[in-house]
Amino acid sequence: MSAESVRKMDKANDAYASAHSPSPSFKDFPDQKAVLVLTCLDPRCEPHHFWDLPADMGPGIMRNAGGRVTEDVLRSIRVISTIMSYGRNTVGAVVIVHHTDCGMINFSDDFVKGKLKERHPGHDQEIDEMFIGEIKDLEKSLKEDVALIRADPFLPKDLEVLAFEYDVFTGKAREVKV
Ligand SMILES: [Zn+2]
Repeated sequence: MSAESVRKMDKANDAYASAHSPSPSFKDFPDQKAVLVLTCLDPRCEPHHFWDLPADMGPGIMRNAGGRVTEDVLRSIRVISTIMSYGRNTVGAVVIVHHTDCGMINFSDDFVKGKLKERHPGHDQEIDEMFIGEIKDLEKSLKEDVALIRADPFLPKDLEVLAFEYDVFTGKAREVKV
């Protein structure tokens, strides 16, 4: 899929918009604890498909390379848990999903940093200090990321954190006890 093919999605959007029922406004969100899912941006790892989630008003999905907990993921959970329903409500659970055959398994931090250094000479120190997020073992990466969320002092005290391993070949999502 190219950038140009994205521009040609106008027709598909026209059809979508003509059949679209208005979404509720932010202040009318249901009075219940929200669930956030953090996962990889890999298109094979799509929670809407493997959990058959509703297209609208399902969990909020945060995606990045590997589905790793970064400073911006913590920022997002802090913000959403604060502004949900104008403070009447909050985020009840964060679900982290890492997946088999992930690019972060197939390529190491050293590989990514080496390529960045080739492309951007003179920035070795900055590149060396970057968090890349390689995954060597799915249970280990899930445990590390659950621990980062649990250790954040700015999140709700009763926030539940769950971890799942998704197999892109079988379509099976398995909970990992952490
Ligand atoms: Zn991935």
